Amino acid sequence: MITRLTGGRLFDPANGVNGEIRDLCIDGGRIVADPGRGKADQTVDMRGRVVMAGGIDIHSHVAGGKVNLARLLMTEDHRDVLAPHAALTRAGSGTATPSSFVTGYRYAGMGYTAAFEPAMVPSNARSTHLEMADLPIIDKGTYVMLGNDEFLLDLLARGAEQERINDYVAWMMRATAALGVKTVNPGGISAFKFNERGLEIDGSVPHHRVAPRRVIQALTRALSELGVPHPLHVHCNNLGVPGNIDTTLATIAAAEGFPIHLTHVQFHSYGTEGDRHFSSAAARLAEAVNSNPNVTIDVGQIMFGQTVTASGDTMAQYRNRAFASPDKWIVMDIECDGGCGLVPFRYRDTNFVNALQWTIGLELFLLINDPWRVFLTTDHPNGAPFTAYPTLIRLLMDRDFRNASLGEIHPAAQQVTTLGSIAREYTLHEIAIMTRAAPARILGLADRGHLGAGAAADITVYKDDADRARMFTAPDHLFKDGAEVARNGAVVATPNGRTHVVRPDYDRGIERPLKKFFDDHMTLRFEHFALSESELADAGIDLSVHPCRPRGGA
Ligand SMILES: [Zn+2]
Ligand SMILES: [Zn+2]
Repeated sequence: MITRLTGGRLFDPANGVNGEIRDLCIDGGRIVADPGRGKADQTVDMRGRVVMAGGIDIHSHVAGGKVNLARLLMTEDHRDVLAPHAALTRAGSGTATPSSFVTGYRYAGMGYTAAFEPAMVPSNARSTHLEMADLPIIDKGTYVMLGNDEFLLDLLARGAEQERINDYVAWMMRATAALGVKTVNPGGISAFKFNERGLEIDGSVPHHRVAPRRVIQALTRALSELGVPHPLHVHCNNLGVPGNIDTTLATIAAAEGFPIHLTHVQFHSYGTEGDRHFSSAAARLAEAVNSNPNVTIDVGQIMFGQTVTASGDTMAQYRNRAFASPDKWIVMDIECDGGCGLVPFRYRDTNFVNALQWTIGLELFLLINDPWRVFLTTDHPNGAPFTAYPTLIRLLMDRDFRNASLGEIHPAAQQVTTLGSIAREYTLHEIAIMTRAAPARILGLADRGHLGAGAAADITVYKDDADRARMFTAPDHLFKDGAEVARNGAVVATPNGRTHVVRPDYDRGIERPLKKFFDDHMTLRFEHFALSESELADAGIDLSVHPCRPRGGA
């Protein structure tokens, strides 16, 4: 059955379509070539509407151990302030840490059709996938966290060949059904276990005598040589530390030209200038991104209000406990491969540091020229819940609104920021790049994020509205794989989305030392660690396996 969406203004950057009025035809969950005038079983009038592919969130903490711990910690957040009966509704709600169900509903209501969980500890892969399977409607996938795992640090300490490292990375991606690899404070989580409270990029992990720079070199190169579409997803060392811009720039250098994605860079773009020894280094990072085409970033914008920070970075979270609001926190170690920390935060526009953080994120968005290399995130829930995206989009698209908001923050922050002098306003075309086309491209999802023939029919239809926050809060229609799932922001159907993975090849010789490592050190047997095809299927998980590039491809 062919459905024709007729008369909408299409923004489809991947196919060079910029606001032109075009029909879109859907058949069997896919977008198909126009069969010709009049040839459709059903026609839906889209005149006056803006049509884009479904939104894709490249970095959002929506599943896994730390999200559950955050829910446990944030009992006061269980009241659903977004619902009409906020005083009554409890479990299954929450703003900073909504339940899995509510997470899927809210993304769909906002016009998003995919969200990617960026921090899966290998030993938590099973529960992470089961939880992701519980997110209704949207597609998902996850990046496995490496770089503080004993096995990799040991390989690096012993000077293993790159080929062995590649085998291990590929084995781990397959075993944990990952779409990418993330490294969080490389070496720093391991160092924290040995009572270190900071680790510089050329410092040394106490037990293994490996530098973070070496971890970044080895992993960026491994993913490139394996042909994994998504480059190494890096949460740099020294998160939140004034002056950390030097570490962030050194991390770009450590990639040695291999593709690298720096995540939540707002938290990594700080200088030490001024009376308070805390300043914006956004211009320096933007300059580095603009001049290094191998670098992509997501921002991790903060928005004012209550949230909870949830991170694999135990070292940073232990430091952040001093700012906990309300005053409670969790930091824990997990197996031999990672950690996590939860610290509630209330970002205040009357606080100089918070106000400056807000301006730094916006400066990054506005000073990085290429929208294909900058992604819209709040690092949900770290900078703000993802439900803040519509307001963030308005801040980027509407200079008057931005400057009015700027006028309300801490006066000292207003004085030192260059934000007020930046004239740039994002266009709808650029928003479609940043939230659809570019995320699909950088994750290797060839049939998502665009509206060409053959693409999955994940389609968002907005009422064009000069108030961009209102426009992006509740789209008129959302189609997921061709079926309407939300209307005027309300969910009307709850199909299950897909889980996206890649499976690079590896030499099975790596399994022998791995088995010994599991026998000697881990609480889970080697035979039980890897997720099998059948158990994923039994859990109702539909895998989409995406191809790797030919080995050695750039
Ligand atoms: Zn992170
Ligand atoms: Zn994150």
